Amino acid sequence: VHSSLPRCGRLLSTSSRCRTVMPAWVIDKYGSNEVLRFTKNASFPIINYPNEVIVKVFAAGLSPIDVAMRGGYGAATLSMKRDPLNIKQSGSEFPLVLGRDVSGVIMECGLDVKHFREGDEVWAAIPPWKQGSLAEFVLLSANEVSHKPKCLSHIEAAAIPYVATTAWSALVNTGGLRKDNCANKRILILGGSGGVGTFAVQMVKAWGAHVTVTCSQNAEQFLRGLGADHVVDYTAGPVEEPLSALEKFDLILDNVGGDTESWALKLLKPWSGAKYVTLVTPFMQNTDRLGVADGMMQSAATVASKALKHLMKGVHYRWGFFAPSGCALDEIRDMVDAKQIRPVVEETFSFSQVPQAFEKVEKGHARGKTVVQIS
Ligand code: NDP
Repeated sequence: VHSSLPRCGRLLSTSSRCRTVMPAWVIDKYGSNEVLRFTKNASFPIINYPNEVIVKVFAAGLSPIDVAMRGGYGAATLSMKRDPLNIKQSGSEFPLVLGRDVSGVIMECGLDVKHFREGDEVWAAIPPWKQGSLAEFVLLSANEVSHKPKCLSHIEAAAIPYVATTAWSALVNTGGLRKDNCANKRILILGGSGGVGTFAVQMVKAWGAHVTVTCSQNAEQFLRGLGADHVVDYTAGPVEEPLSALEKFDLILDNVGGDTESWALKLLKPWSGAKYVTLVTPFMQNTDRLGVADGMMQSAATVASKALKHLMKGVHYRWGFFAPSGCALDEIRDMVDAKQIRPVVEETFSFSQVPQAFEKVEKGHARGKTVVQIS
């Protein structure tokens, strides 16, 4: 399965040839920050399928999902994905490496990988059922990987893939937006100042939409700088009141959840194909709580009944999900190279400061992304 390229090649010193272990931050059980453990003996990834690549990690992005997964979020659902036949013992996911964004360099390619070569600079969003990027190396499928924008450093590049592929999946795949159908569309982004919001604002603005965001008052100038046309402070009182006074919207991206569903769909233009897409769904909680089969049935029933209820009022209700995609990242790279999108790195931590990086993400109030420099 392996390519004829030497395993260590020019990217690794001869002392690292034929390594079986690598440095990584791992967890051995779910819990709060003290479960994070640094080890120099994490398993070195092995190519098992011909479409896989090993990437040497230069920078890793952290997201709220890493904090949630550290605490056990999605454990049942992700275990099913890792072990569909359910033949492994409970806890077989440990030691688990977190970190969903990677920017780095291809170190080794499986035999069927044609689009990448050893030494290529790449970026990727890592699916949550795979080992993450808080390690010296990570294993990915080639279709999850994309050549990184040349104009970005690895730190900057690691701020984009997870939030970008999430926003892409929600806005393009679920919301039906494209670069050629956004002109004159009115888009509302609830929760504009975090990782997903700062990316989504720039993306739809670049495609010509009129963009309204909600955020705290102290993020207003920051979001106007990213292209928001209209900013509404959610801390000044019930945010639905100022939003209701505005012209109605063609699409709402909800990064906030909670009670937003009770008022947000009334802000859409009825009977015009307008959509509400929320990223805050009970999907994982349902499968964690009820088991995979019952949890999926519960989720299907919930989303179907809500979609039907809102369809009768002339608007579309949808759930959005992260979807790994090298192809989406290729398109996003072109937008970054064209200076239509810039990375928003709020804070950078060294590899030895991973617990502090988790503390930062856990505090909330993000203004962009938290990134860890790995090497
Ligand atoms: P971040 O933590 O990076 O950002 C959240 C932002 O929302 C912060 O800037 C926060 O700032 C702001 N905020 C908090 N409360 C409100 C409010 N009531 N109104 C407006 N803004 C608010 O999160 P991400 O951007 O990475 O993710 C956003 C959401 O999307 C999360 O809930 C995440 O779990 C979910 N998500 C879901 C995915 C899926 O596959 N379904 C994938 C990725 C993310 P402040 O508190 O200072 O106002």
